[in-house]
This record gives sequence, C-alpha cells and structure tokens, in this order.
Amino acid sequence: MEITEKEILERLVETRNRLPQGVQLVAVSKTHPASAVLAAYKAGQRLFGENKVQEMTLKHNELPADIEWHFIGHVQKNKIKLMAPYVSVIQGIDDFEALAEVDRQAARYGRTIKCLLQIHVASEESKFGFTPQGVMDMLADGKWKDLSHVQIAGVMGMATNTDNEAQVISEFETLVSLFHRIKDSYFAGCSGFSIISAGMSDDHSLAIRAGSNMVRIGSAIFGARDYSL
Ligand SMILES: *Cc1c(COP(=O)(O)O)cnc(C)c1O
Repeated sequence: MEITEKEILERLVETRNRLPQGVQLVAVSKTHPASAVLAAYKAGQRLFGENKVQEMTLKHNELPADIEWHFIGHVQKNKIKLMAPYVSVIQGIDDFEALAEVDRQAARYGRTIKCLLQIHVASEESKFGFTPQGVMDMLADGKWKDLSHVQIAGVMGMATNTDNEAQVISEFETLVSLFHRIKDSYFAGCSGFSIISAGMSDDHSLAIRAGSNMVRIGSAIFGARDYSL
C-alpha cells in the first residue's frame, strides 16, 4: 500500500534535513504513482529519478514541466529516443555507444543532455557500469570529444549491498577518487564536470562521508516498493 501524502512530506523533510549543504537529492519515484511524485513536488522537490524509460515518460507527460527527470537505470539504446526530448540527466551511461546515441537523439531536439558515467565499484557481478580501467580507456580514446550534444557531467556508482561499512566506504572512495582522476585529466577547470552521484536510502550517509554530492533516495521517502503491481 502506498503511504499517504503527509507521510511523504514528513519523510522528505527528514531526509533533506540530514543532507549537508551542497548535496543534491534525487527522489527516486520508480514504481510509485504520479500522485506520490506530486506530493513530493508540492513539498518543493524538483529532482526525481526513474529507472524505466516508459514509466518515466508517462510521469513526465502527466506532471509539472519544471520537474528535472534523472534516468538512473541501465540505458537501453533503443529507448533513448523516448526520453531525449525532456530528460535532464542520464545517470547510467556505461559504454561509448550509449553516449553516442544520446548525442544523436539530443541533436534531433536541439538539446544538450547531461550524462554521468556509471562506474562499477561494487563486488557484485550483477551491477552495470564501466570498470575503472574501462572508463579511463574510453576517455583516452577521445571520440567523446566530437559529441556536441552531450555534456559529461560526472560519475555515478553503487556500492555492494552489504552490512560491511568499511567495504561500502572503500567502494565509494574508489568512485570519488576516480572522479578526481577524470576531472584532473580531462575536465580541469570545467565547472560542468561536477557530479558524484552515490548513495541510496541505506548507504547515503557513508557515500556523503566519502565525498558524494548527489544522493538517489527512494524508499526512505516513498516507502517500500511493490514490484508485483
Ligand atoms: C532504486 C534505485 C535507487 C534508490 O534506492 P532506495 O534504496 O529505494 O533508496 C538509487 N539508485 C538506483 C540506481 C536505483 O535503481
């Protein structure tokens, strides 16, 4: 059962109060109805994250136009054209081909779309993302410099789902140090490369401690997800 609008408001305020200044909150609304997004919107939230393109597009069509939609799922190349007209940030870029397709589709709409490079720092096999070496190779290759309709705006990563705090912190630190390495090598002095998206409901305080400046929080705001719907 969905939680009430009042509960969403309270949880949102509580979550925001825990975040230091300079840390942006993406409210992850996947599986929750548009009414839940609207409740958070009314409480001032403008950044929302979704991991299914169709679901995000339906919500985008129905909800206020000043919402910034962040796509946080695995990017399927054939679905990029559906979100290209409106998506604010695509967080799950994990190969050059996806970046090139975002560029093509963004160009059709005369837009420049912000993209985050997803980096695999967890020990779990199942998570998507560049390896640290893979992302450095892609950048060294230089073809991305010809893409004028994407802006590489930072990195995104997920830690292993474990109670071992030291491991989680160390994985987030790997992501943060890679961000700085990329920044120094390719985006020095470029204020547009600035986002470290790391941390979810259960591990965002560790991510922030490691240097994250964008957290993606779902269940702590909207309640548990029911995937059976
Ligand atoms: C679902 C999801 C989140 C939010 O997870 P919660 O544990 O509900 O906060 C964050 N990031 C990604 C990539 C997700 O898919």
